[in-house]
Parts: sequence; C-alpha cells; structure tokens
Amino acid sequence: MVVTRFAPSPTGFLHIGGLRTALFNWLWARKNGGKFILRIEDTDLSRNSQEATEAILKAFDWVGLDYDGEVAYQSKRFNIYKKYINKLLDEGKAYYCYMTKEELDKLRQEQQERGERPRYDRRYRDFTGTPPEGVKPVVRIKAPLEGDIIFEDGIKGTITIRAEELDDFIIARSDGTPTYNFVVAIDDALMGVTDIIRGDDHLYNTPKQIIVYEALGLKLPKFYHVPMILNEQGKKLSKRDGAMDVMEYKKMGYLPEALLNFLVRLGWSYKDQEIFTLEEMLELFDPKDINKSASAYNLSKLDWLNSHYIKNSSNDRLIKLLEDYDLFLESHDKKEILLDALKERAKTIKELADMAKEILESPKEYDEKAVKKALKGEYKEILNLFLDKLKSIDAHLPVDFHKIIEEVVKEKNIGFGKIGQPLRVALVGKLSGPDLSDIMAIIGKDETINRVEKLLENF
Ligand code: GLU
Repeated sequence: MVVTRFAPSPTGFLHIGGLRTALFNWLWARKNGGKFILRIEDTDLSRNSQEATEAILKAFDWVGLDYDGEVAYQSKRFNIYKKYINKLLDEGKAYYCYMTKEELDKLRQEQQERGERPRYDRRYRDFTGTPPEGVKPVVRIKAPLEGDIIFEDGIKGTITIRAEELDDFIIARSDGTPTYNFVVAIDDALMGVTDIIRGDDHLYNTPKQIIVYEALGLKLPKFYHVPMILNEQGKKLSKRDGAMDVMEYKKMGYLPEALLNFLVRLGWSYKDQEIFTLEEMLELFDPKDINKSASAYNLSKLDWLNSHYIKNSSNDRLIKLLEDYDLFLESHDKKEILLDALKERAKTIKELADMAKEILESPKEYDEKAVKKALKGEYKEILNLFLDKLKSIDAHLPVDFHKIIEEVVKEKNIGFGKIGQPLRVALVGKLSGPDLSDIMAIIGKDETINRVEKLLENF
C-alpha cells in the first residue's frame, strides 16, 4: 500500500509551496487507494505555535484535502523517540559525546585555519574512559566511515553522497530532545510511509535520515525531491509574489479548485493540458513526472484558471461565496440574470462582488472621462424619450428594456451608442459593464428611471 505524508513544521502559515507538496502527496496516496498522513513537526517547542497548526488545518479544510486517521503531533511522541535513541545507544550504534560548545568552537576554528571543512572529529565515537564531569552529553549516531550513501530520487535520479562528507550527527541534544533528521526518519518508518514527496531543500537531509533507517534496520521509503517554486524573475518566491498564507487566496476570492489546479501545474504537466479536475489529477498524476527544474509562479495564470472555475460554478454556490464580501443575493429576484451576466467576466469572487455592487448600488459618482465622452449632443432628449417610453410600459425582462432602446434608436435615427453610452453612465457611472438590458432588468424599472433622472438633474 502506498502511504504518503505531509509533515509541516508549524512555524508559520501554510503557504502555497507547502500546499503543493501536500497536494502531490495526497494525490499519490488517493490515486493508489493508499493512506495520506498529516504530521505536525512541532518538536521545536520554542518556534512552533498552536495558531500555525490551526491555520494549516483550516487551509486543508478549505481546499478539501482529507487525511487518514488523527493528525500526528511529534510533540506527543517524545517517548517513542527516546526509546529508539536508547536502542541505538544499547546496540553501540550511537554514543554520548561530551564535547562542550567551547571545545567544538575551538575545533572548528582550527579546522578552518587549516583550510578544512569544519566538522565533528568523532573523538567520543569509541570513547571508553571516564566522562568529564558537569557536561551534559549529546547523543551522536555512528555514521559510516567510508563508502557512499546512494539513493534513487524519483525526480532527480541517483544521488550519491560520500561518507566522508557526513559526520556523526547529533540525534539527541544535551537536554534529551531528539533532533529533526532523527525524528523524521523514525516517524516515517513507524508510520509505514512508502513515498516521501517533499521540497528539494530537504535533499541533503535525506542521507542523514538514511543513516538512521539503516542503523535501525528499517526499510527505506522512496524519495521524490520537488524543485522549488520561483517568481517570474526566477528568484525565490517572496510574500509579495504570492508566497503567503493559503487562506489569503480565499480572502482574495480564489476558488480552492482553481488554486489546486494552479498548483498541480507548477512542476507537473500532462501533455499541454491546463485544466484538471480533481478526478483527472487523480487519474494522471505520477510523481515521477514532476519536472526536474524549478517552476515559475504566474498570477495571471491563476486568474485565468479562477475565471474558468467561476464561470462554471452554479449560481447557488456563487451566492454563498459572495456572502463573504457582504453581498446577500439569496432573496434578490433577479439574481440569476445578475450572476449569469457577471460570472463570465470576473477573475475572482471579490471582483464578482464588486461588479455586482456596482450594478445594485446607484452610482455615487460619475467617471469624468465617461461623462465627457457620453454626455454630449442630443443626449438629454434621447434619455427623456427613453424615460417616456419606459414609464408607459411594464418592463421586467432584459428583452423588454432592449425593445425600448431599439425604438429610441429607430425614432431618433441614431446609432446605438448615442443612447447606450449616456444610459450606461446614468446606470453605473462609467462606460464598462455587462449588457445594458441585463443591468436594467436586474435593478428594475423604477430604479432605472431613478438613475436616469438623477443623471439628468446632475448635468
Ligand atoms: N517539517 C519539514 C518542513 O516543514 C518537512 C519535513 C519533511 O517533509 O521531511 O519543512
């Protein structure tokens, strides 16, 4: 069975790079009918916050990624780690090191002066004497002294690290707390993780983790190290470029399926397909197809995907989403016309809300350029004729309003723009927006009259 995991350290919010890693792992587990574990790596008690953990869970909930079993917290597993540290000590595969910080600093300095790479010199590896007093030891693992550590990365190919590049790294600090590479390896092994998909910033942790696996005789998982997401200039993604809390994307009005579609394409592709439903992702995703090179974040692509998903959302769903932007359309009698007219045009739900408000609320001001362009010539007579006609009939549907415009155009023998433009300024204060007849049907006959009269009073 394929078992994957997402193992964030709760030091901050879940950003999109993290969510992409989670998505890849989730897809691979679900595609194979396997298990996806969420493990919170909160051993560094000083840097972790409950708030960050909650933010991660909230983001998972929003995008709809589910996980199997309870969330695993490393902070609750210290006893387990201790047991394995003791096991390695008992078997002589790890040892206490009594070197003080001062001694270590001195060693480093000497090595640097000799032009060597600073590293621990293994002086306590085979120590049998009496330990110095008053030093609380760390525990170090016995790394191999020669040979290579070799593993097959599912994305990067064969990775070879010479044993001499690794030293006997610390697995437990002097206060007894276990270190990162140790607990990751223990947890992955005990949780039965078979496939590890993670950022390639962890590539050089992997040999250390392999040393732990091997010391304990545990079966190695398969590793996939995913290249980073860069900004459009090819630099590391910063907050400004979009490396922010995933929940910010919700606030900005992105749909979760658009974000997931966007993320799956950052680093993975299938032919030249851009739009992937979750079902398609599940069918087609394979971590071995993840690109070897870094991928570039491109917000306009996300906008494009988001408009696609907005366009294809039901109006009922949009109505619920718009409530986050203080727009309550549930009982509006023309909500279908409004949403059908706008959902083709909005890049985000927030933009959809703004566009809808622009129609539903009488314009507070008139765009200067639009006024200059549209309010000239015979516009007053034209609008008055339009008002007379409108007042004399029953108008509800877009076609009813459209008919009146056509009549005015005919009677006055004018181009459509001669009425269309001033009318648009009257209705929404500017020259852009959806179809005029739709706007009038949405706000209704009385409000249409009010807005046109208001414009005539103002100019
Ligand atoms: N906790 C690590 C991080 O947040 C990830 C560990 C892993 O995936 O192996 O970067």
